[in-house]
Amino acid sequence: MLLKKQETISCDVLVIGSGGAGLRAAIAAAEKGCDVLIMSKARIGHASNTYLSKAIIASSGWGEFRDTGSVHLDDTLQGGRHLNNPDMVASFTEAIRTETALLRTWGMDYTADENGNPTVIKMPGHSYARHLSGRHFRGSDLVMPLKKKAEDSGVRFQEKTFVSSLLVSENRVRGATGITGDGIFLTIKAGAVVIATGGYGHVFLNTNNAPGITGDGQALALKAGVSLQDMEFVQFYPTAYGKRGSRILLYERILAQDGAVLKNSRGHDILAANGHSPTSITRDELAQVIMKEILAESEQRGGVYMDLTELSDNAAQSVSMHLPAGWFKGGKVFEVVPTAHFCMGGIVTDADGRTSCPGLFVAGEAAAGSHGANRLAGNALAEIIAMGSITGRNAAGSAISLGRTSETDELADNEKQRLAALITQSGPQSGEMTRELKKVMWFNAGILRNQHSLETALKAVMGWKDFRTSVTSGLGGKAGDLIRFLEFRNLRLVSETVCRSALERTETRGAHFRSDYPAEENRAWLKNIRVRQMDTDIMLEHVPVPGTE
Ligand SMILES: Cc1cc2nc3c(=O)[nH]c(=O)nc-3n(C[C@H](O)[C@H](O)[C@H](O)COP(=O)(O)OP(=O)(O)OC[C@H]3O[C@@H](n4cnc5c(N)ncnc54)[C@H](O)[C@@H]3O)c2cc1C
Repeated sequence: MLLKKQETISCDVLVIGSGGAGLRAAIAAAEKGCDVLIMSKARIGHASNTYLSKAIIASSGWGEFRDTGSVHLDDTLQGGRHLNNPDMVASFTEAIRTETALLRTWGMDYTADENGNPTVIKMPGHSYARHLSGRHFRGSDLVMPLKKKAEDSGVRFQEKTFVSSLLVSENRVRGATGITGDGIFLTIKAGAVVIATGGYGHVFLNTNNAPGITGDGQALALKAGVSLQDMEFVQFYPTAYGKRGSRILLYERILAQDGAVLKNSRGHDILAANGHSPTSITRDELAQVIMKEILAESEQRGGVYMDLTELSDNAAQSVSMHLPAGWFKGGKVFEVVPTAHFCMGGIVTDADGRTSCPGLFVAGEAAAGSHGANRLAGNALAEIIAMGSITGRNAAGSAISLGRTSETDELADNEKQRLAALITQSGPQSGEMTRELKKVMWFNAGILRNQHSLETALKAVMGWKDFRTSVTSGLGGKAGDLIRFLEFRNLRLVSETVCRSALERTETRGAHFRSDYPAEENRAWLKNIRVRQMDTDIMLEHVPVPGTE
C-alpha cells in the first residue's frame, strides 16, 4: 500500500540531489567529519543535468597568466548584466582554480596536449581561453570521479527517492520527508539540509534538461518560507533536435560552414531574411528569430530546419563531432527548435550557501545569484563545483553547532496526511496537466514575452492551482503516479513565480526579452525581483543588487 510503510533515517547533513553540486557538497561535509546522506530521485549521479553536460568548466589559472579570478569575475558580471551577487561570483571564480586541480587528483581527466598538460579553449563572453573540458566532453567525465570520491569519503546514498517536503519548525530546518520508488514514506532527521536539486527547465515544453529537473527545490524552499529570486531569467539555446529539443545542435559551429542554412517551413533562409550573420548572432537573438518563425505558423507549430544538403565533405569532416547522428545515416535536413537550457533564477542564499532558514543551505543551479540575467558558457559547472564545496563545508559547520533533532514526528505525520489528502480515486491525470502547463508556458512565457502573453500564461497556471489527481486506485496506487503529481504541483508553483516575475520586469535584460519593453532600463531595473509565499499567495519584492545599496 502506498505510504503505508514508513521508515526513519538520521544523519548530520542531508543533501537533496546528486548532480555535481550535491556530490561536491556531500564530499565537503563528509571531510568535516559529518555523517552525510545524499538523497536523489534518480540513480545517484545519473539523470541530472551534470550527467548530461559536456563537462566544460570555466576556470582561470590554466591558460594565460594574466587571466585571474578577478578578470573572470568581471566577465561574469558583464554577462549577467550586473544583476549577479558579486560576492558569490567572487567566491566561485576564485575557488574554481583550486577545485579544478582537486578534481584532477580525484580522477577527472581533462583534454590535454602531448605532454599531458590540460588545454584550454576560449568561449564567447570570456576575455581569455580558460575552459577546461572533460576528456570525452561528457558529464560522466565529472560525475563518476565525484561519485567515487563521495563513496570513498563515507557518504551514504539513498537513490530513487523523491523528497516531498522540508521539515521546518521553531525557525530551523529539521530534516525532510521522502517517497521511495516502491511507495515507502521516509522521514529523514538531519542537523542541516543542502538543496541541490538543479533548475526548473521542465516548466517549458522544449527542454534539454534531465527528466527530473522540475523545480522541486525551488518549490520546497518557497513552502519553507525562503524566497526565490530572478525567476524570470531562463536561458534558451536556439537550435536543438530530438524529442522536444532534447539535444543541442551547435549552430555556432555548423552554420559557420558554407552550405549550412537555417530555413523556415517555406524554405526561406531565416538569417539572410533578417539581416543576420550566422557567426555574429547571439544565442538569445537567434532563439527569438526562430520563435517568431514558429509562432507565425498558423497550424503545425513545429520548428525550423537546419538544411545541410549543400555541406561539402570537407566542411562536414571539420564539424563531424557536432553533427546529429542522423547525418551519418544519410539525413541532410534536421528540424530544430529552441530549448530551455539553464535557469538563472533560484533560491536566495548568501555567498556561503546559507538561506534565511537556519540549517538550510542551497548549492548549484537551484540557487540564484551567481549568473544574474544570463550565464556565460562553462560558468555553470564552475559555480556548482566551487559553491558545492563552500556550501557543503558550511552546512557541516551548521549541523555540528545545531545538532541533530528528534522533534520531527508531528511534522512528518502532517506531511503524510497532506499527501494522502491529495489523492483521489478519479480526476485528471497529472501527465495530461503537465503537458498542457508546459505548452502554455512555452508559447506564452518562454522566449518571447509581452504583457498579454504573460497574463494568458498566468491565468492558465492559476487555473490549475487546486487540482487533485487520480492515483490508479487511491492509496493502493503507484508511487510513480503520486510523484509525477507532486512534480506537476511544483512545476505549477514555479511557473507562477516565472510569470509574475516576468510580468513585473518591464524591460529587456539578459535572457528576459519583453517585446513590449525591448530596451534595457538601468535606471529603473538594476535590481533583483524576489518572490516569497505568504499563506498560498505569491508576493513580489524589489531588492537592490548586493553592493549597490
Ligand atoms: C545538455 C546540457 C549540457 C550542459 N553542458 C554544460 C557544460 O558543458 N558546462 C557548463 O558549465 N554547464 C553546462 N550545462 C549546465 C550544467 O550542466 C548544469 O547547470 C549543472 O550541471 C547543474 O548541476 P546541479 O548539481 O545544480 O543540478 P543537476 O546536475 O541537475 O542535479 C540535480 C539533482 O537533483 C535531483 N532532484 C531533483 N529534485 C529532487 C527531489 N524532489 N528529490 C530528490 N532528488 C531530486 C536530481 O535527480 C539530480 O540528481 C549543461 C546543461 C545541459 C542540460
